Amino acid sequence: MSSNYSYKNGGGVKTKSVSSSSSSFSSGYSKSKPAVTSNLRRNSTGSTANSVTGAHKDAPGVSGRVRVAVRLRPKNSEELSTDADFADCVELQPELKRLKLRRNNWDSDTFEFDEVLTEFASQKRVYEVVAKPVVESVLEGYNGTVMAYGQTGTGKTYTLGKLGDEDTSARGIMVRAMEDIFAEATETDSISVSYIQLYMETIQDLLDPVNDNLSIVEDPKSGDITLPGASLIEVKDQQSFVELLRLGEAHRFATNTKLNTESSRSHAILMVHVKKSVSVSGDNVGSKSHTNRTMKPPVVRKGKLIVVDLAGSERIDKSGSEGHTLEEAKSINLSLSALGKCINALAENSYVPVRDSKLTRLLRDSFGGTARTSLVITIGPSPRHRGETSSTIMFGQRAMKVENMLKIKEEFDYKSLARKLDVQVESLIAQHERQQKAYQDEIEKISLEAKKQISQAEKKFADSLEKERLKYQRDCMESIKKLEAQLAVNKLKEESLNKPNEELNEVKKLLQNEIRLRKTAEEEVKNLQNQAVQWKRSEVAGNAEIVKLRKMLEDEIHQREKLEEEISVLQNQLLQLSFDADETRKQLESGDRSVDMTADMGSIISPVRQPQMRYSGEQEKGSVATLFEQVGLQKILSLLEAEDPDVRIHAVKVIANLAAEANNQEKIVEAGGLASLLDLLSSSDDENIHRVAAGAIANLAMNETNQELIMSQGGISLLAMTAQNADDPQTLRMVAGAIANLCGNDKLQLVLRAEGGIKALLSMVRSKHPDVLAQVARGIANFAKCESRASTQGIKSGKSLLIEDGALAWIVKNASNEASPIRRHIELALCHLAQHEVNAKDMISGGALWELVRISRDCSREDIRILARRTLSSSPSFQVELKRLRLNSG
Ligand code: ADP
Ligand code: MG
Repeated sequence: MSSNYSYKNGGGVKTKSVSSSSSSFSSGYSKSKPAVTSNLRRNSTGSTANSVTGAHKDAPGVSGRVRVAVRLRPKNSEELSTDADFADCVELQPELKRLKLRRNNWDSDTFEFDEVLTEFASQKRVYEVVAKPVVESVLEGYNGTVMAYGQTGTGKTYTLGKLGDEDTSARGIMVRAMEDIFAEATETDSISVSYIQLYMETIQDLLDPVNDNLSIVEDPKSGDITLPGASLIEVKDQQSFVELLRLGEAHRFATNTKLNTESSRSHAILMVHVKKSVSVSGDNVGSKSHTNRTMKPPVVRKGKLIVVDLAGSERIDKSGSEGHTLEEAKSINLSLSALGKCINALAENSYVPVRDSKLTRLLRDSFGGTARTSLVITIGPSPRHRGETSSTIMFGQRAMKVENMLKIKEEFDYKSLARKLDVQVESLIAQHERQQKAYQDEIEKISLEAKKQISQAEKKFADSLEKERLKYQRDCMESIKKLEAQLAVNKLKEESLNKPNEELNEVKKLLQNEIRLRKTAEEEVKNLQNQAVQWKRSEVAGNAEIVKLRKMLEDEIHQREKLEEEISVLQNQLLQLSFDADETRKQLESGDRSVDMTADMGSIISPVRQPQMRYSGEQEKGSVATLFEQVGLQKILSLLEAEDPDVRIHAVKVIANLAAEANNQEKIVEAGGLASLLDLLSSSDDENIHRVAAGAIANLAMNETNQELIMSQGGISLLAMTAQNADDPQTLRMVAGAIANLCGNDKLQLVLRAEGGIKALLSMVRSKHPDVLAQVARGIANFAKCESRASTQGIKSGKSLLIEDGALAWIVKNASNEASPIRRHIELALCHLAQHEVNAKDMISGGALWELVRISRDCSREDIRILARRTLSSSPSFQVELKRLRLNSG
């Protein structure tokens, strides 16, 4: 600060002598720079520290006085010739940074400047002394101004705007400044350029001359001055910048021609906007933590370099002398005058009329503002322009008093921060997505791995299973092979013994056949089942029919039963009638004889009068008789032994018919017919023959002589045998009839019984046929009658043989048989048995007494009733018993 202070004190006062402090001032422009830089550093760091509150506006500025250098143009050819005899109006003491302005030949004024540049100073040196510090400040974020002031033709344009096309060493400040800016610029930095001209308070765009009346806009808050209508062209390299300058110069020349003026009357202003992002590692910003860096918006520094090539500073009157009206001249130099006034005011700390001109408005920050400003005043050596030179020097001296407060143009780049944050957010989203993807991938990987492991395990398991299976298969195969080997051995063994395999094969074949048959049978069963199902269906339909038919059948059966009953009744009636007829006939034959039971019996057994005994009908009788006469008995009998059964049976029938006639019987027996008939009973198996033969024998047995013959020829046992084997009731009837006839023979009683005749007779009751039973009953009655007769005659004294052979039970049981022929015979038999006292005991115990009592009381035939009553009363045993039972017949 002391050095700055010393500048103030030491600089700028018009003085003839070098002040004491001049030494410190003279230490120079360049020397002060490091101090400023260090100040800058300190403040910049402070500013950054406060920048979170966005307070760089409030950051303390750095004192920065306007630097002024003076440059002397070399004499041009004209001056060399014209002014050759005169001394220069100025004398330079560059090492002392002093300039002596000659007042007259003996007196001069001495002025101190920040830099004194002689006519020999190179463009390079001029740039480094005047502009370079400003450019460096701009790169650090300050505004900077380089301005040339001086009379027309003194080299303002040469100093600032020389392009140096022919001679690169002649490159002016504009070109060199931009070179340095580009050298420092990074890719993210932005450098853009506007180039304008101010003439008669009108601003024209030198880069686009169509914009010929640009207006100045002032930010009311910051006070920043902008030219919204001006072209602002971003330049990327030096070459394009130079081209822009060239274009601007060309437009300046064209515009001035059009306005019928000279470039010296207008102010040319180049504005370079440098926007630099502050490098984080940079020492100004400080290396804060990563958090701070990311949380804080990035800092951008917007330095603006203004290079001003002013219009000529020659006096108005001079300009006027060159053909311009005063007003015109005034107007032309209004801005320049205003600039002078402002600088005076700034130097004297009085009111600064910034708003008086467009130039002062545009340069508001350059003088008394925040910019680092460097002014070069150009002068010529000619004594003829001494006044102008003096005025220029005075302007420079005053400008040296202007103190600026340098402020860094640094701000938070919220847009950039937002962009950066956007990028961060996007990156975080992307990262998140990536992580999520990675997580999902990981999960997928894990699940895939798990699946893989599972499938591997499964495969392993399957493999081991398969292995196991194969092993078992192998084992099995080996076992089979072993067994087969064993079998082969066995086979060999067995083959020597037998060939069981063939048998086995046969059995197998049979089995297969059986299986096939069974299958066929199963199919058949199935078919039948199906059919059964179908039949069942039709059966249901037919059931009604069946029920109907059954009903009809039942009706028929009922009808038949009724008819059978009727037949039975009629048969009984017929029996009764025949019996009655027999009785009547007997009575007629024996006259008025009292009823004789024997006669009765005889009538019964008479074959002629027994229609049921007769073999064939009347129509056959004639033919048989004829046959008998024609063929002869002997012949017929011989046919009984014929081979043909039909012939035999016919012969028997013929014999039987013949035997039915009493007069034939003798002839038949004589011819040996009886023996033949008996023989048939044993030799033939034919039951028909048995029946017919038995019938014939029965007929023959009616004759007493025949009876004896039958007995002697073993007839009883033959008849008993036939009775035993026969089932047919008619056969049994014939046999029973024959035996019954034999039973009526007194002489044959004992033999008959001894040969089983009675037993045979009784055995036939099994038939239950009334015809058979009637014959049995007749035989019993006959036998009982003979026994009764024998006992009456005193021949027989023992118990009845009938009782002995167990006939009593059947007799008692059938004593009240419904069929009258049976009943009558039994009633007679009972009466005969009861007449012999020895039978009484058995009869009582066998229940026969009761039957006799019943007969004596209820019998419809009176003779039998009387016989029974008489018998009962004549038997003492019966009487005793009846008395005991208190059933005295009285
Ligand atoms: P101004 O812009 O101040 O009107 P110019 O820059 O046009 O003056 O200079 C006028 C003339 O002087 C030009 O021909 C220029 O080449 C020449 N000139 C100016 N300064 C120098 C210098 N330092 N060395 C050589 N020639 C110069
Ligand atoms: Mg010029």
